[in-house]
Amino acid sequence: MTQLVWFRSDLRSRDNPALWHACKNSQDSVIGVVFVTRQQWQQHGLGERKMQLLENAMQALKTELKQLHIPLLIIPADTFADCNQTLQRIIIQLNIRSVAFNIEYEVNERRRDIEFSRWCREQQISVYKFHDQCMVPPGEVRTKQDLPFKVFTPFKRAWIQQADGRIGAPLPQPQPRDPAIQNALAGLAGLQGNIPATNTVADELWPASEDEAHQRLNQFAEERGRAYKELRDLPAEDATSRLSVYLSLGMISPRQCLHVALSHNKGQLTGNTPGFDTWISELIWREFYRHLLVAFPQLCKHKAFKPDTEQVPWRNSESDFKAWCEGRTGYPIVDAAQKQLVAEGWMHNRLRMISAMFLTKHLLIDWRKGEAFFNHWLLDADLASNNGGWQWSASTGADGVPYFRIFNPTTQSQRFDADGEFIARYLPQLAELPAAARHQPDNLQRQRCGYETPIVEHKFARQRALDAFKQTLTTA
Ligand code: FAD
Repeated sequence: MTQLVWFRSDLRSRDNPALWHACKNSQDSVIGVVFVTRQQWQQHGLGERKMQLLENAMQALKTELKQLHIPLLIIPADTFADCNQTLQRIIIQLNIRSVAFNIEYEVNERRRDIEFSRWCREQQISVYKFHDQCMVPPGEVRTKQDLPFKVFTPFKRAWIQQADGRIGAPLPQPQPRDPAIQNALAGLAGLQGNIPATNTVADELWPASEDEAHQRLNQFAEERGRAYKELRDLPAEDATSRLSVYLSLGMISPRQCLHVALSHNKGQLTGNTPGFDTWISELIWREFYRHLLVAFPQLCKHKAFKPDTEQVPWRNSESDFKAWCEGRTGYPIVDAAQKQLVAEGWMHNRLRMISAMFLTKHLLIDWRKGEAFFNHWLLDADLASNNGGWQWSASTGADGVPYFRIFNPTTQSQRFDADGEFIARYLPQLAELPAAARHQPDNLQRQRCGYETPIVEHKFARQRALDAFKQTLTTA
């Protein structure tokens, strides 16, 4: 019998439940399929670099699977509907009776899978689905009233209770298949298109390889994990794991990350080393946003988590938005952050919060515009975390704190980039200024360095945002 594995955002050979399942019986031949859905990705707002990275990750998986004698068909298909049609053709052509895949939680993806599963049922083809993106499947962490959590801290407490001692060790890579059995699949090459591997900035900074992801994980755990709590908020430091890109492609699983963290934390999810406790907590944030996406599918449809915030009178200023996108707001920490995003396809978490809050509170521009911009440029672009982060920053999202949390970008800068080192790295025109002046150069310094004047004054902007939210929420 031939087993088919449909890969998607799980581009790895290790700790892959669908692949593992398909490889269970050594007498079965196994084939993998993955689709390059550029048109669909573009509809989802992904940028060119992320699409290329996805393609490179598919090529890397193909190489990985080749060593296991498992062919991977990389097939161009415009949309999800095309994937289903193509897959059905392959299934019929190869007389496949069993398909396995790992579940994706976004609305379009779930719709695609429902349709595919319905077709399989009609054809009496077995479908095996697995949760691999979350360590505790969405829907399984609930309040005492059997409702989904809406705030992180109680979610985390309940998640830990649920997960403690129950998250198994990551699955190994399956054993190589017997080439004689796999020979049954000879002649498949004609089914796939030609996707050339590309060499981009993304590839230089984030080489698409499972081994690279594991190397980064181990290096982080050994060298930086213990100091994570103290240093993680300092953008000039290389203090975080930078694994988000690999997690978003599924080149590494959250369970693999947790497993390594636990091995440095005496097997405990919390209450051991502050560094690893905090890092594990971040992995739980990732879970939280995925659980929210499933419980509140309106999040996939550009809707605010808090419906009354739909009435916030967002400003429609193209010029302010453009200045923010291009890193020309006159607030050095915001501008440096935006430059990092475009240069590296990644932005430090503290800066994501500062920058997102600046756009939504200081400029009072709709969070959806910022979310789309990040989604385009981030190589770790991920609907659940990006939407969660943006709505948290805009106070439209799942957050216990009300709208009046408004970061002052200058004091944030002084606190988290005290020496102005990060600013100088991404805004070299300010490097000649003394550290203290880099956070908020005076007019003369701005002129000398050829740097913008602030597009909005902090106190005024803060009050404008407070008024806009207050007015909306009292009239809602
Ligand atoms: P580490 O600090 O090493 O953390 C380990 C892992 O935990 C990360 O790789 C990530 O998977 C997870 N994680 C850490 N912080 C968060 C968080 N706040 N929320 C959810 N998961 C978290 N993360 C994405 O993966 N994709 C996005 O598109 C994304 N967009 C964001 C947008 C905004 C406005 C904000 C405020 C945050 C966003 N984040 C996003 C979350 C966070 O900024 C990144 O996950 C983190 O900066 C990645 O760096 P790292 O891998 O070094 O993280």
